[in-house]
Amino acid sequence: MSKYDYDLFVIGAGSGGVRAARVSSSYGAKVAIAEEYRVGGTCVIRGCVPKKLLVYGSHFSEELEDGKNFGWTWENPKFDWIKLRDHILSDVDRLNNAYTDTLNSHDVEIILERAEIVGPHEIKLASGKTVTAKYILVAVGAWPAVAEFPGSEHMLTSNDMFHLENLPETVIVSGGGYIANEFAGIFNGLGSNVTLVNRSDVILRGYDESLRDRLIQISTAKGINIKLNCTFDKIEKRDDGALDVYMNGDNPVRADVVLAATGRRPKTDGLGLENAGVETNDYGAIKVDEYSRTNVDSIYAVGDVTDRVQLTPVAIREGQAFAETVFNDTPKTVDYDCIPSAVFSQPPIASVGLTESEARKKYGDVKIYSSDFRAMRNVFADRPERSLYKMIVEVTSEKILGLHMIGPDAPEILQAAAVAVKAGLTKQAFDDTIALHPSMAEELVLLK
Ligand code: NDP
Repeated sequence: MSKYDYDLFVIGAGSGGVRAARVSSSYGAKVAIAEEYRVGGTCVIRGCVPKKLLVYGSHFSEELEDGKNFGWTWENPKFDWIKLRDHILSDVDRLNNAYTDTLNSHDVEIILERAEIVGPHEIKLASGKTVTAKYILVAVGAWPAVAEFPGSEHMLTSNDMFHLENLPETVIVSGGGYIANEFAGIFNGLGSNVTLVNRSDVILRGYDESLRDRLIQISTAKGINIKLNCTFDKIEKRDDGALDVYMNGDNPVRADVVLAATGRRPKTDGLGLENAGVETNDYGAIKVDEYSRTNVDSIYAVGDVTDRVQLTPVAIREGQAFAETVFNDTPKTVDYDCIPSAVFSQPPIASVGLTESEARKKYGDVKIYSSDFRAMRNVFADRPERSLYKMIVEVTSEKILGLHMIGPDAPEILQAAAVAVKAGLTKQAFDDTIALHPSMAEELVLLK
């Protein structure tokens, strides 16, 4: 008989926590998982999944337009925000149930309450009950960071975007990262008037410069107003509910919604980490070693709360590695090298490996191959939008250091190509592969 109530107590039923819980349970551990909101976490409930569905929904406006040259006509096509919103929310319910079923079928006890740490092996639930566990895994994720200035409380975050009562006529997006560009594309596609405002002169810091420039060019052509080097002075709410937004000392601009998309902070406030002496960094992120173990032997942390790489598949890998290490006697670490990522802007960006400037910094000289082309479908539809694929290779070996793409379906294509980059293949290996014609992906084996 164990002296603890559980072998493992997981706090947070998001992607990382659910994976760790169910795999640990399958290795024989007695596991409970606490969740204060809904099983599924950010990705499923208010992130990747509903966001991607909004991207699909908004892109139909272009499909309808492009259909004309393909012989299709539609009489008065109309968009119904409430219909899309509610259908997405019901899909979120479906996934919430599926995640719950998975935990149940793996004998993980689900406790729908907030949990806080009171000691290295002790957790207090919102109901007041205290439970003990041999190991505690913190997987509480991150939360939107909202800048503070007069009226900033009137801004909404990505959490709110899935519940809007109306499609806003005018949206101002604060930020130039993933969420800002994805929602700018969504609302632009749905017909809102969109302005994206970023404090610096770059968007999507960390992505290859050529792709960022291409996205700015295409987004601007689609009607998204991009204001760089711009900061918010204040926001005032009018009697009619609209917002007067003051930026850069200029006259106010009216907006229905101001979306704060300025990063996500680890959600460690009030978690009781100090009760067990768990160390965090200046950003509030839990410090962990390569096995996701904190400075307290019995407490581990995975996912966004550790602020290593804020991506769902990474949290899942970390959760799996935790279960292998702690409950399957097979110590496992996560390989953070060459993680593919995508921005679901319109068109999307997908990327793996080093950007050109990172590669030049690391290797000095590098070779760049690229293809700047208009997809056949866009040519036929009279859509001027051009795609850009860019490969960065080491000079002597021609080993691929980075692969970057912007264009329709770029994430779908890059996932497969990322296998080759991760495997350390060369440009020659791509050249040796016969093109699959006609496709956009064939440009990858025809890069000049
Ligand atoms: P990002 O880190 O992508 O971008 C943050 C943006 O906000 C940057 O443009 C930054 O400007 C700006 N910013 C940061 N702090 C401030 C501040 N105090 N005041 C004003 N502007 C500020 O964050 P997101 O919120 O877009 O997304 C959070 C994370 O979620 C991402 O890092 C990503 O890991 C994940 N995510 C992943 C997605 C995907 O995989 N497709 C989709 C959505 C989110 P600057 O760069 O100029 O400093």
